[in-house]
Amino acid sequence: MTGPVRIEIPTPPGPHPPATNCYAFLAGDAVDLVDPGWDDPASLAALEAGLAGLGTSVDRVRTIVATHWHVDHLPLSARVRERSAARVLLGRGDELDAAVPVDGLLADGDEVVLGDRPVRVVGAPGHTPGSLCLDLGDDGLVTGDTLLAEINPGIGLSFHVEGNPIRDYLATLERLARDFAHRTGLPGHGPDLHDLPSRCAELAAHHRARSAEVVAVLARHPDATVDEIAPQLTWTGGWESLRDVSLRSALRQTAWHRELAAS
Ligand SMILES: [Zn+2]
Repeated sequence: MTGPVRIEIPTPPGPHPPATNCYAFLAGDAVDLVDPGWDDPASLAALEAGLAGLGTSVDRVRTIVATHWHVDHLPLSARVRERSAARVLLGRGDELDAAVPVDGLLADGDEVVLGDRPVRVVGAPGHTPGSLCLDLGDDGLVTGDTLLAEINPGIGLSFHVEGNPIRDYLATLERLARDFAHRTGLPGHGPDLHDLPSRCAELAAHHRARSAEVVAVLARHPDATVDEIAPQLTWTGGWESLRDVSLRSALRQTAWHRELAAS
C-alpha cells in the first residue's frame, strides 16, 4: 500500500470541523503529504503517530501539497519543514494568504509526484482562489474543501480575492462533475464522496437558489444595497445568527451574487 492513506488530524476546538483528512503517499520509507493540518501540538502528535504506523516519520517527508491556505490544512507544514527536507507546494492564488513558508506554486495541469506516482493538479477556484484538487486516477480525486460530503463549503474565504468566486466555484463544480464523474472524492473533512456529480449538483443548486433570491429582491427593489439585500436571503441558521467573520462572509457573498445577477 503506497497510499493515499488517510490520517485524521484533530483541530483545536472552534467553529470548524473537528479533524482534517491528511493523505500520506509512501515511497519506500519516504513519504509525501497532502494537507498536514493545523499548527498545534495535538495535531503534530497525531501526524507523528500516523506516520509511525506507516513505518515512516516526519523527518522523511519529501513533498507537502496543501489543497488551500486555510489554517486547518497548510500551517502544520511549517513544523514538518523544520524537521525534514520537505518542499511545501500551494495553489497559485493562495500564496498571499499563506501564513507559513511556501516553496513552490501549483497551477491547473501541473504534475507533482506523490509517493511513487505522478499526480495531475486540477485547479478548483471558488472556496479560495488557489484551491486545487489532485487527480489520482482510479484511486480517486483529492478534493480539499472544494467538495465535502456533509458540509456546504464556504465560497471566497480568503483575504485576497479577485473576480467573482461564486462564478468560479460554479464553473469548478461543472468541470468536476463532467471530467471526474466516476472518481471517489477524497475530501478535506469527513467521509469519502461516492457520487461526485450529484454532490456537485446539490452544491450548485444551493448557490443558484441564493442567486435567484437576490434577483427576486432586486426585482422588487432595483436599487437595494448589499446591506439591504442580505437580511432578506435564506441563511443556514438564520440571518440573526451571523456574527463577525460569518457576517462579513455573508455580506461578501451577497455582493458577489448581486454582481452575478447584474451580469
Ligand atoms: Zn478545511
